[in-house]
Amino acid sequence: MIPITTFVGQTVAVFGLGNSGLLSAKALMQGGAEVIAFDDNEKSLAAAKAAGVTTQDLRELDWTKIAALVLAPGVPLTHPTPHWSVQLATKAGVEIIGDIELFCLQRAMSGAACPLVAITGTNGKSTTTALIAHLLKSAGIDAQMGGNIGVPVLALEPFAQIGRLGRAYVLEVSSYQIDLAPSLKPTVGILLNVSEDHLDRHGTIENYAAIKTLLAASAEQVAVIGVDDRYTREAAERIERAGKKVVRVSVLGPLRDGYYAEGSRIMLGVGGKAHPVAQLAGIGSLRGAHNAQNAACAVAACVALGLDLAEIQKGLVSFPGLAHRMQQVGRKKTAAGSVLFVNDSKATNADSVAKALASFPDIFWIAGGKPKTGGIAGLAEFFPRIRKAYLIGEAAQDFARTLDGQVPREISGVLSAAIDQATRDAEASGLKEPIVLLSPACASFDQYPNFEVRGKAFSDLVLALPGVTPIA
Ligand code: ADP
Repeated sequence: MIPITTFVGQTVAVFGLGNSGLLSAKALMQGGAEVIAFDDNEKSLAAAKAAGVTTQDLRELDWTKIAALVLAPGVPLTHPTPHWSVQLATKAGVEIIGDIELFCLQRAMSGAACPLVAITGTNGKSTTTALIAHLLKSAGIDAQMGGNIGVPVLALEPFAQIGRLGRAYVLEVSSYQIDLAPSLKPTVGILLNVSEDHLDRHGTIENYAAIKTLLAASAEQVAVIGVDDRYTREAAERIERAGKKVVRVSVLGPLRDGYYAEGSRIMLGVGGKAHPVAQLAGIGSLRGAHNAQNAACAVAACVALGLDLAEIQKGLVSFPGLAHRMQQVGRKKTAAGSVLFVNDSKATNADSVAKALASFPDIFWIAGGKPKTGGIAGLAEFFPRIRKAYLIGEAAQDFARTLDGQVPREISGVLSAAIDQATRDAEASGLKEPIVLLSPACASFDQYPNFEVRGKAFSDLVLALPGVTPIA
């Protein structure tokens, strides 16, 4: 845990006592602050009390005595309406911050030169964050990974001047967290891409893009920006005009200056001259153009931190990938080659599924679950890659209607049946590398508590099939 000493002797209010909120309370207490915490949820409140945190309804607080309100990232700051604790703090002129802000204040105060890489964007945040942490670790650097990726930032090891760079922090930061972290000044700030998502929380796409841009604009050393959409292209220009160093990344075509994908290679353009910097061929965890964007941004960040290209390549090759995102689970040998089993349970909407379908040529596709609006009609351009579909859950009939006459399909109902049928057909196909792909285009809640449990069920069932060898 990172104790926060910047509020020593002061009183801080904390609202939202989930994982990260509770940790904020503890870190502040350990650093010498007085904490008064609250949550609307009885269970969280009881857990905080049991952990020795002082709790009180923040409506009964004398706000004139409060130095700051630490808000959990899920609590609405502005949209659709500010949470009541936000309204009270605002009325009293109390600053509202999040756990990333506490981390940044402490980092500035610690005096240790610990590099901070912060990653945001609409898609690919977790993959890029995990990849950068992996590249740093594989180069022998003490890299700490956290933030939105699931490990609260204050759970990480404290700042320390160790190794050739100092302890390095790689943080996935959501737009919610950027909103609450005015002192966020990463060494390298990465903005991957911006598309319409989470508008419920930010109102307009312009506002959402502006918040994400802030993270890159506040970078101390370099802003790495994926410039393949209109919002990020504009952000790159604006940040450059403000006199900051911008490194551009594209997977759409060559850049005169910047990193870009050319086939499976990552190139660096310098004044129009192209230099090969990394090779993604054969790296199963980084298949697809979307992963080339993530990888190129990760490479750019690591170069900026001083890693050499050989170190980076070594790390790329050993990247295991993240669970449930196009994760290669196992292989089964056939007369023609082998069947590859891929768990993409995280793909709960058509957009994400499109990335997976675009990454493989011969797909035996397991899809379905609790349907979301939009369905799978938008995936029609990928239908020729699907040899057959195996449909499960509530969405099965609806998906079957969309596929009718275009893709052979079977109503499998449940995952186990779908896996058996898809494996049987993939083995009999005579194809060199048929893919049995779970990429559901649906939420999991009709049959599973969440996408992780669904993905694990897929992996467990696949690995229990006779003749399947696991892919570590
Ligand atoms: P996030 O953390 O931003 O949700 P992840 O790294 O967890 O992103 O990836 C989630 C899904 O988003 C992946 O399974 C893939 O379908 C898609 N994806 C990943 N990287 C990108 C990217 N750079 N551009 C577009 N989509 C992506």
